[in-house]
Amino acid sequence: MKKEIRALSIENLITELEALKQPKFRAKQIYEWLWNKSCVDFEQMSNLSKELRNTLQQNFYINHITENITQKSSDGTIKMGFKCQDDRMIEGVMIPADNRMTACVSSQVGCSLSCKFCATGFLKRERNLEAGEIYDQVVLLNQQSLHHFEKPLTNIVYMGMGEPLLNYDNVMRSINLITTDEGLGMSSKRITVSTSGVARGIMRMADEGKKFNLALSLHAATDEKRLQIMDINKSNPLDTVIDALSYFYNKTGNKITYEYILFKDFNDSDEDAKHLIKLCKKVPSFVNIIEYNQVDGVEYTKATDERLQRFTMILEQNGIDAKVRRSRGKDIDAACGQLANKNKLHDRI
Ligand code: SAH
Ligand code: SF4
Repeated sequence: MKKEIRALSIENLITELEALKQPKFRAKQIYEWLWNKSCVDFEQMSNLSKELRNTLQQNFYINHITENITQKSSDGTIKMGFKCQDDRMIEGVMIPADNRMTACVSSQVGCSLSCKFCATGFLKRERNLEAGEIYDQVVLLNQQSLHHFEKPLTNIVYMGMGEPLLNYDNVMRSINLITTDEGLGMSSKRITVSTSGVARGIMRMADEGKKFNLALSLHAATDEKRLQIMDINKSNPLDTVIDALSYFYNKTGNKITYEYILFKDFNDSDEDAKHLIKLCKKVPSFVNIIEYNQVDGVEYTKATDERLQRFTMILEQNGIDAKVRRSRGKDIDAACGQLANKNKLHDRI
């Protein structure tokens, strides 16, 4: 049976190639093709002999994703639908701004957590993505960035489909590959992992000294309210999650970003702002106030501009570092929480 070559670490690749009577430096060359040059076809590995390319072909395969459909929003945001080799579909988004080009990548096919406001949460979780499949999204979104804006990606956010910390090993490996020189060589300071609050995963990242940014999808500052919109709060109540964040901050020195979608008449009152302030004082943090993107079949709606301004003002007056984040790519369902594979495979055929 053929083996997935990108699932192998460099050490394992060396061992595999030794068994095929190949010297160590060949493994290094191949590894460089696979990651640094993001090559997904053995035939194109031009500094390897024809014979070796055939041997690779016979013994290994490359489990990579391919572009299925690409859409461009009127605001420049680009959404890509990708097809996995098992025909499953995922989505990634490239968001251009004056000073940064951000890729938003998926970590799972679907999501098991079913948050009440999120389109991905309405899909069932089908499987975890492999590290290579996450890496491919970055590579393909970077190509779009270069093609349309003549600039490479500057930032990566794990805010697409799925819960990154429920696919811990593959997500961490993908970050390793994105940040090492053998891969894309990006700075880990430019990477943000967003979680709905998997405390165990947060503690593990802290213990492993992970240096990237961490965002918590908070959306409500009391257990009572958060339970109404996020099932994960049953197994990971706020106290437990905040303790984990505090541990993460103490170990890494990285401030936490809280994401807070402002829903009309649900979490946008002055009292809600006070609960949020109290919570924010526990761990050094920033708050992103997020405009809610309407998802079909969801009972919640977005807060009025007036409430948004007042809510933000109350936070600021109490010394909280808060910014309003407007949505991008809404016209093509590319905004936060809208990724749901609406463009199915057959749309293209
Ligand atoms: N599962 C992870 C990462 C993916 S979701 C998490 O939940 O953090 C990325 C972000 O989009 C999260 O902050 C999520 O709460 C937010 N989001 C989900 N649905 C949204 C919607 N309809 N409008 C605005 N933001 C949404
Ligand atoms: Fe999953 Fe995040 Fe959407 Fe919740 S918000 S359903 S955790 S992707």
